[in-house]
Amino acid sequence: MTNENTLLGKETGELSGFAALGITGALLKATHAAGFTDPKPIQAQAIPPQMEGRDIFGIAQTGSGKTAAFALPILSKIIALGTKRRPKTARALILAPTRELAVQIEDTIKILAKGAHVSTALVLGGVSRFSQVKKVAPGVDILIATPGRLTDLVREGDLMLADTKWLVLDEGDRMLDMGFINDVKRIAKATAPDRQTVLFSATMPNEIAELAKGLLKNPIRVEVAPQSTAAAEIVQGVVFARTKQKRQVLSTMLADEAMKSVIIFSRTKHGADRVTKDLERDGFKAAVIHGNKSQNARQKALNDFREGSVRILVATDIAARGIDVPGISHVVNFDLPDEAESYVHRIGRTGRNGMDGIAITLCDPSENSKLRQVERIIRTKLPIVADHLGSPDPQRNPAEKNERFEPANDRNDRNGRRDGRRPGGENKGNGFGNKRFGDKPAFAGERKPEGAKPFKGNNKRRFGGKRPAARAA
Ligand code: AMP
Repeated sequence: MTNENTLLGKETGELSGFAALGITGALLKATHAAGFTDPKPIQAQAIPPQMEGRDIFGIAQTGSGKTAAFALPILSKIIALGTKRRPKTARALILAPTRELAVQIEDTIKILAKGAHVSTALVLGGVSRFSQVKKVAPGVDILIATPGRLTDLVREGDLMLADTKWLVLDEGDRMLDMGFINDVKRIAKATAPDRQTVLFSATMPNEIAELAKGLLKNPIRVEVAPQSTAAAEIVQGVVFARTKQKRQVLSTMLADEAMKSVIIFSRTKHGADRVTKDLERDGFKAAVIHGNKSQNARQKALNDFREGSVRILVATDIAARGIDVPGISHVVNFDLPDEAESYVHRIGRTGRNGMDGIAITLCDPSENSKLRQVERIIRTKLPIVADHLGSPDPQRNPAEKNERFEPANDRNDRNGRRDGRRPGGENKGNGFGNKRFGDKPAFAGERKPEGAKPFKGNNKRRFGGKRPAARAA
C-alpha cells in the first residue's frame, strides 16, 4: 500500500509518484487527496519538461490524464510566484473547444489546487457575459475559456492577455474541426511572447502539425497512444441495419439490462432530437445534448446522466467531445460519423479507467464506405454483432425465419464479405459476443421492449427487388 511517507520518499530517501515529478507542498497534498497517487504515463512524460519550462506537444485523448499533466506544472509555478495579478488579466489561459470540456477542466483544477489560493474563472459562450466580465475584472490566475467568447471579451477590452505566460490548447484537433483555428492563432498572438505553450490533440492532422510549428518553441513531444488507435479495452462491433430499422434495433438493444449507462451518438442535431423522441415513444427516458441546446440544458443533461438519473444520453459529436463521465458501459453509434476519426473519440467515452466498454455501430448500406474508413483508421475489421439487412418479416413468413441462423459463410457471401467475420455470439475468435453477451442472441432483434413493433414488409420490397450493395472486404 502506498502511503504519504512512501510517496514523499520519507522512508526510502527517494521521491516517488508526483513528488518525483517535482510536485510539492499543498499541491502534492491535494493531488493525493484527489486520489492521484501514481502518475499516469502522459503525466510522467509531460510534467518534468514543463517544470523545466519547455513547450509540450502532446498526443493524448481525454481519459489519458492530460488535464493534470498540463495543470500541475502551471499550478506549481503560479503558487511559487505568489499572487501578482493585474486587473483584467489572466496569468494562465487554457483554451478548450467545448463548454463541457472547459467546465470539466476547471473542476479538475479546483480539486488539484485545493487549499493553494489559486483563482480560476470560466469564459464560455451561452451563459451570461456580464458575470464573466465581473469575474475577470480583478485579474485571475487561471482562465479556462472557449475561443469564441474569449475573443469577444478581448475585443471589447474586458480582458487583456499580455500578462498571460502560460497557454494551453486542449483538444487541438477538435478546435480545428469546429473552425476555431484562426481565433486560436489570434488569441495566442495576444499572449506574452515569452509564454510557455502546451498543445494537446487526440490526433495529428497536418493542420495541427502546422499550428504546433507556429505556436510552440522547440517542444518536447509526448504521446500516450498511437495516433487514432482505439483503446484496447473497448469491445467493438457493427450491426447492419437499414436506416428505417435502426429505431427498433436500438430500442431492442436498450431493453437489455446490461446496457447500464449508454451514450448514443447521432451525426446531426436534428437526428439526435429524433432519436431521443423515438426512444421516449418506445418508453425510454433519455437526455440529449447538442449545440442548439442552451448551456443550462446541456449541463443539466450531462449532470442527469453523470448522476445516473437517466441512463441514456443522446449526443452529437461536438457536444460530447471531451466528456469524461465515469462508468459509461456502452457507446452506440446510431450512424457513422462524417469523419472517421470522430469514431475514435466517440468510442473513447466508454472503456475508461480500466473498465470494460462496448461500442456498437449501426450501419446502413449507404454508410459502408464510412465504415471502411473507420476500419482503416482503427486498423481492425469490426466484427458483426447482428445483420438485419436480410432479415425477413418473422410474422409473415415463418419459413424464412431460419435464414437468420444460416451458416456464417453464406451470410458473408451474401453481404460481400469473405473475411471470416461472423455475427453475434458465433464470433468466438474476437471474444465479443460470447464474452460479453453469453449465449444470448444479443442485439439481434430477438427481444423487444414493450410496444416495439416488428419490421414490416418483405425483403423484396425493402431491397427494392435488389440485394444490398456488396461491401468489399
Ligand atoms: P483527463 O484525461 O485529464 O480527462 O483524465 C481522465 C480521468 O483520469 C479523470 O477522471 C481523472 O480524475 C483521472 N486521473 C487523472 N490522473 C490520474 C492519476 N494519476 N491517478 C488516478 N486518476 C487519474
